[in-house]
Amino acid sequence: MNTILVTGGAGFLGSNLCSALVKNADNYVICMDNFYTGRIANIQHLIGLRNFELIERDVTIPYDRKVDQIYNAACPASPPAYQKRPTYTTKTNFLGMMNMLDLATKYNAKILQFSTSEVYGNPLVHPQTEDYWGNVNPDGIRSCYDEGKRCAETLCFDYHREFGTRIKLIRIFNTYGPNMDPKDGRVVSNFILQALKNEAITIYGDGSQTRSFCYVDDLIDGIIRMMNSEDSFLGPVNLGNPAEFTMLELAQMVIDKTKSQSSFAFCPLPEDDPIQRRPDISRAIEHLNWMPTCSLDLGLDRTIEYYSKLIEDAE
Ligand code: UDP
Repeated sequence: MNTILVTGGAGFLGSNLCSALVKNADNYVICMDNFYTGRIANIQHLIGLRNFELIERDVTIPYDRKVDQIYNAACPASPPAYQKRPTYTTKTNFLGMMNMLDLATKYNAKILQFSTSEVYGNPLVHPQTEDYWGNVNPDGIRSCYDEGKRCAETLCFDYHREFGTRIKLIRIFNTYGPNMDPKDGRVVSNFILQALKNEAITIYGDGSQTRSFCYVDDLIDGIIRMMNSEDSFLGPVNLGNPAEFTMLELAQMVIDKTKSQSSFAFCPLPEDDPIQRRPDISRAIEHLNWMPTCSLDLGLDRTIEYYSKLIEDAE
């Protein structure tokens, strides 16, 4: 039996990861979540499975249990959520990371850290390769997340250098799909929900900023490949879909697909909002033989179906 701990296991990415991992009968999956942003609905279908266990617990509290692998996904990830309690966001990134690295070191487990494209800040290099050091404001409203994640990366490498801890680092670019909290405030969930309800689509700034959107199933495949890659490949490795879109293009696609009557409402651009973002995924292709296969077109169809059902069920 392969005992796997997934912190933040009831969140958007964590729950999709747990769902994929339990399919392998040799895996025993422990999902840890404090439900700050995680949702029980995301993992309801897993509760009761022979190889799934849920623990309600905060990652900032030390944890001792023999495990073989740790996926450290615990941290609020949407800007409104992580900015609501910024000091807690930093604490989760720092203390949570230390606790999980201590656990991995004690049991010689592999630990995979969910890092982020936010470590590049508002990038001056485009597309972003892993050896770019980033352009991050240390004092802004996004800093708790960006600097927290940067510090977590540092901890990973220092544990590896000092104690030989078996670390793995991925940098996740914008991802979307089922289980993303409808109240999360992310662009894909906001636009789809607004379009389905014929409410105004909230475009921040002039909508010319870009993001590259990866469908969640593609990302989960990349994450599992990274965990199972040889120990000598530590990363960091970018995981994301290199197809880049402006927010206006995304809004138009969502309106067309939902046949919505929504109009655009232009709102102020949030502070430190990156202007352009696209991953260079050469490293993932070379080391993991991984590349996203789901287009934004197809991924949006699947995600619109998910949110339509949520709205239907709520009525
Ligand atoms: N955004 C937008 N309208 C929304 C929510 C977000 O135009 O209702 C923009 C936001 O300003 C950013 C992009 O969409 O430029 C992606 O935002 P999100 O919060 O999804 O992710 P992140 O900023 O972390 O990349």
